[in-house]
Amino acid sequence: MSDEDLMTFLGEEEPKQPSPATVEPSAPEVWRVLITDDEQDVHSATAFALRNTKIMGRRLEFLHAKSAEEALTILKENDDIAVILLDVVMETPNAGLDLVAVIREELGNSQSRIILRTGQPNQAPEIEVIRDYDINDYKLKSELTQNKLYASLTTAVRSYQQIRTIESSKQGLDLIVRGSSDLMSKRGLTDFATGVIVQLAGLLSIKPEGLICVRRDEKERAEPFIIAAAGHYCELIDRPLSEMTEAEERDMLAESLNTASNIYGEHGVALYLGSTERGDMSCYVGSTMAMRQVDKGLLELFCSNISICADNVELVDRLRSFAFTDALVQLPNRNAFNESVGQLLTRPDAADYSLALVDIDNFAEINAALGQQYCDQLLVAIAERLKDAFPPPAIVARIAGDTFALLAKTEALAAEHVHAPFKEYFEVEDEHQLVSITCGIVALADIGNDKDDVLKSAGVVLKLAKNQHRGEVLHYHSDMLKHARERLGVLRNLRDAFESGALFLVFQPKFDLANNGISGFEALLRWRDEGGNIIYPDTFIQIAEQSGLIVRMGEWILRKAVDALHDLHQRGWEGSHVSVNVSAAQLRHPDFLNMLARIAEESPVPTNCIDLEITESMGIADSEMALTRLNEIKNLGFTLSIDDFGTGFSSLSYLQKMPIDRLKIDQSFVHTSGEESGREIIEMIIQLGNTLDLRVIAEGVENSSELDLLKQLKCDEIQGFLYAKPMGIDDLHGWLDDNAAAYKK
Ligand code: C2E
Ligand code: CA
Ligand code: CA
Repeated sequence: MSDEDLMTFLGEEEPKQPSPATVEPSAPEVWRVLITDDEQDVHSATAFALRNTKIMGRRLEFLHAKSAEEALTILKENDDIAVILLDVVMETPNAGLDLVAVIREELGNSQSRIILRTGQPNQAPEIEVIRDYDINDYKLKSELTQNKLYASLTTAVRSYQQIRTIESSKQGLDLIVRGSSDLMSKRGLTDFATGVIVQLAGLLSIKPEGLICVRRDEKERAEPFIIAAAGHYCELIDRPLSEMTEAEERDMLAESLNTASNIYGEHGVALYLGSTERGDMSCYVGSTMAMRQVDKGLLELFCSNISICADNVELVDRLRSFAFTDALVQLPNRNAFNESVGQLLTRPDAADYSLALVDIDNFAEINAALGQQYCDQLLVAIAERLKDAFPPPAIVARIAGDTFALLAKTEALAAEHVHAPFKEYFEVEDEHQLVSITCGIVALADIGNDKDDVLKSAGVVLKLAKNQHRGEVLHYHSDMLKHARERLGVLRNLRDAFESGALFLVFQPKFDLANNGISGFEALLRWRDEGGNIIYPDTFIQIAEQSGLIVRMGEWILRKAVDALHDLHQRGWEGSHVSVNVSAAQLRHPDFLNMLARIAEESPVPTNCIDLEITESMGIADSEMALTRLNEIKNLGFTLSIDDFGTGFSSLSYLQKMPIDRLKIDQSFVHTSGEESGREIIEMIIQLGNTLDLRVIAEGVENSSELDLLKQLKCDEIQGFLYAKPMGIDDLHGWLDDNAAAYKK
């Protein structure tokens, strides 16, 4: 979770809402995103959050539907929707999922990527549904932060583009093959030319709009003629080029024919596809997007292939490889990989093999930070490493934007082998890029003989791994679906516990080493289950965070902690503060700041007695947005502590800029303070605190040797079992009464 910025987007500004009617039907080169939700707020918030977003160089265009029915109408009329952001609960509790079934099964639309959104974690669809309907992702609406949306949309758009490329490549190929056998007939030539346009459009992922022009050396047709056209150029078929009114296209085509070369214009390209036998031929496709370097290379390759192909049927094979090869990394693509899996499954030794999906961690963030060109090169480098590490007969493929697939003997896919290619830096644009991966593996022996089951199960494992085992290699076992359900069960119980008042806070005193007095209390959450057993937060906080429940729970915790502190102040501990743990999901929530403002306004204690503990690993360390947010919190008067300090990864320059008051040394260092390394880290953190003028507290102090060391190193505060355990509020009152003489300063 350390990889996302904090971000607010609700509030200040009212987003503009493009209505479907005002959207130009053939608006060029945008990714069209259909937002389907019955809450107006979600439409506005999503459009606003993504208003300036570009993915792979293109803007997003939003279509809006307020019900499943409206969505269906839009989907029937538009076959170029890249991503559908779909609310699960609309006119009926299942409206969203029912719509997914219609989209995939009745409309036969397998290309649009679907991201489900739910208001409540318990509305999340069953894993089987996600698998069977090829759903990309599901998200809670409370997770509507800009970066999360951006990350899932980028992934979805990348995979949409790839599916489209493969599809149109296949379609175009069919036409070309059909046409090239009979290029002398009009029909053959037209098929061929149309195939070229379709396939080109696929390669560039633009709409198939373009035209093809030939000049034969026959006398009556010495003038270039348009022999095929697609899109709005359709009417020009069979007309002389000179009749074309669009000057730019006309001139580019003429120049291409005259110079026998490719012409790259501002609004499109004219590609020369001629040959001595056939005469001159040029194809124009429009694209407002500046041709990137990689596209040019691809186009040149395409041109040379297509020209030769028309003369030499054997070379059709090369073209075919377009449909089965990933043009960027020159590996088999998803299509080809699926076929390989299918073939393998028919072999008697299939059970000896495993399939691994290798996903690059934080790829969307790398993309956002360093750009697409950088990422493309990174992918090429990764592909090379994987090819070297898994030579044939193993198969390495790229099956989605940042996902590679491996098919190999099970023993070759042991975790250490999968990690090995990523041990060393990748060199891209003179940068050293370390890449971590998350991997899901299925052994074919465990799944059975159905190709789709194998691929989908691998997808499920990868998804689980990405959610809960980032950076690890996770193996499929049949309990996985069971575990996912169990987590859902814990979540339900937790929600019930929260509603029914079974959660409560305990408080652990914190001590000032300068005068040995109590400086404050840390509030820690507990859950008393039905049998009266106490459940500790380590077992459920993560589930609360992932489900979004933490947001409501967090507000409740903060209010309870403030009330308790007010009580303590009235009992004579007025100088003390309360520390409350704040989790990443809370901090990022769009309403977090408003919530704090409300609390600040209503609080019976000064806000500078309320300390928020945030962990270093929340990704707060390196982002401007986070800095802004922390400053806003600070402006409300709260104090801020960095919890578990030393375990995360803050750059010093950021730490210097962060408006924090306190560093809390992680207890793992306190517990290893007997060893030199532990001691050195503690010493370093204390020095750092002195330099930056921050207070330093050590947690988890359990024995007197730890205490002595911390005193000697002049740590400001300590907290730990040695002085006091966390206590329920009544016990705390009693304990404070008993110990007032010693600790009240
Ligand atoms: P944390 O913030 O690092 O909290 C310190 C943990 O160390 C607490 O565990 C505390 O009971 C324990 N502890 C205190 N003194 C000692 C000691 O001398 N020795 C040892 N071994 N442990 C000591 P607890 O209460 O189980 O909480 C675990 C974690 O759960 C917390 O780690 C915090 O990250 C999270 N947590 C607890 N309450 C909340 C909450 O209200 N909200 C959120 N978001 N997270 C919470
Ligand atoms: Ca803490
Ligand atoms: Ca801690």
